[in-house]
Amino acid sequence: AKQLGKGRAFAYAPDLDAEREELACLEGQLRRAIADDAIKPVFQPLVSVASQKICGVEALARWHSPTGFVAPDVFIPLAERSGLIDDLGMKILTFSIRAASGWNELSLSVNISPIQLCNPNFVDDVTDILAKENFDPHRLTLEITEGVLISNPDQASRAINALKERGIRFALDDFGCGFASIGALRQFGFDRMKLDRSLVWGLDDDGRGSGILKATIALAAALNIPVTAEGIETETQAKALGAAGCDQLQGYLVGKPMSAQALDDLLSSERLV
Ligand code: C2E
Ligand code: CA
Ligand code: CA
Ligand code: CA
Repeated sequence: AKQLGKGRAFAYAPDLDAEREELACLEGQLRRAIADDAIKPVFQPLVSVASQKICGVEALARWHSPTGFVAPDVFIPLAERSGLIDDLGMKILTFSIRAASGWNELSLSVNISPIQLCNPNFVDDVTDILAKENFDPHRLTLEITEGVLISNPDQASRAINALKERGIRFALDDFGCGFASIGALRQFGFDRMKLDRSLVWGLDDDGRGSGILKATIALAAALNIPVTAEGIETETQAKALGAAGCDQLQGYLVGKPMSAQALDDLLSSERLV
């Protein structure tokens, strides 16, 4: 048993222990799942406002563990804490590239953890995978969140620049839910901004809504940085965000995350119309 200093601790310590044990168990399962290639990407369509067609996909990791579905918001942070994210991230990237190699006309967006970006091998690893899979670097966009730009600006900017030289593009993910400024888009050379769904959902039912939202999109447009609106669930949101200047929409309205096979089917039906 643990040495507990205060009586107060006694009351909740057993819960904490149980929680810790559960996490340790999940970490073991995660380690095995990565080794067994049990974590696979699904693909969510990115739809062009101009053509109303699918112009790209975002890969999203999925894990159906022996004890049920585990959300990426749970296993990605766990992988980051337990040193598994580099391995997992490279596998997701490889699976995504293989699936997307058949979707010639589409761009592929893959989420990258700050820990991966700061790994000294990351640039070479990505370059190697692209070469090995014979995948055009210009089709690949890496999505990163702002945190790493603040915590490790020098490492982040070195990795971003090296990969951009090889033709890879970068998107600033979840824009508007943290502190990232339009200046950061410029400073780090981002090719695209992804507006967080919390901003998108700030629009009211008439599609009017926040002046900040519109000003943000307009400012990005003035800097020639195209904007994807995330979390589009209603026609009203789609219309408003398109009118405000977003060139790409993503969300359940225009396409849910789906298997590679389901996307294949969707693309062939799109080609028929
Ligand atoms: P994200 O990169 O912001 O991805 C968008 C999330 O919004 C996804 O959640 C997607 O399923 C969800 N989404 C898309 N459209 C809608 C909509 O219309 N309404 C609502 N309510 N949600 C929508 P998901 O797949 O659960 O992923 C959560 C987060 O986990 C991602 O947020 C990303 O930060 C992280 N993640 C997922 N896959 C990976 C990965 O392979 N690597 C890393 N590093 N992170 C990942
Ligand atoms: Ca993303
Ligand atoms: Ca996002
Ligand atoms: Ca997010």
